[in-house]
Amino acid sequence: MTRESKEPRTGPVLGVFAHPDDAEICAGGVLSKWAAAGREVHLLILTNGDRGSQDPSQDRGELAATRARETQDAAEVLGLASVRIGSVSDSELENTEEVRESVVRRIREVRAETVVACDPTTVFFENRYYNHSDHRTSGFVALDASYPGSGNPHFFPEQLAQGLETQDVFDLWLGWTNDPNHVEDISGHFATKVAALAKHDSQLAEGIRFFEEFLGKDAVGAGEKIGVEHAEEFRVLDLS
Ligand SMILES: [Zn+2]
Repeated sequence: MTRESKEPRTGPVLGVFAHPDDAEICAGGVLSKWAAAGREVHLLILTNGDRGSQDPSQDRGELAATRARETQDAAEVLGLASVRIGSVSDSELENTEEVRESVVRRIREVRAETVVACDPTTVFFENRYYNHSDHRTSGFVALDASYPGSGNPHFFPEQLAQGLETQDVFDLWLGWTNDPNHVEDISGHFATKVAALAKHDSQLAEGIRFFEEFLGKDAVGAGEKIGVEHAEEFRVLDLS
């Protein structure tokens, strides 16, 4: 099924992802494109990424601090309006009231019209590997926070008492999906996606060239479907 093309939205965007480098890999092209077009693009990362190392002597607190710095640097490259990182440990993300509260709060704070996340129904990628539990969970959290959470005054009414207003999310863009219905042209933004990812130095044991090659292959392959140089694929849900 292909999504009908509509007028592009111009309002604020919130990316909701599990780990500090997920947004760049999954949707760095479109986030950069929207920021360059003048949309306010915010990012909320739900875990601190403190297990992202194969070195048994790596201090996890130090790694979390390093990854927070890398994430700020990457956000600058993408042109993001803000980035926040949660305190949940890497691989311990659960779809709890507390986590949903933090996402609903951020949707309401930035007045997000569009939420970008990963498709929580993606478990297997062909027979090559399977999706990280935090990725699946972060996708479900993003869905549950977007609807019925953020637009309904009976969800977290204490936020409204603090001055926030309910916020309807108009569309959800889910990356890392096996069921894409939309191919987004990111020509001119692929280099920015890679440059942002390159800021996550702690995760680049194999070098940025490795990512540049496989992400490039994906982006060129997606681009061929709509006759452009580079693209990213999503399952887009129009909720409005
Ligand atoms: Zn991840």
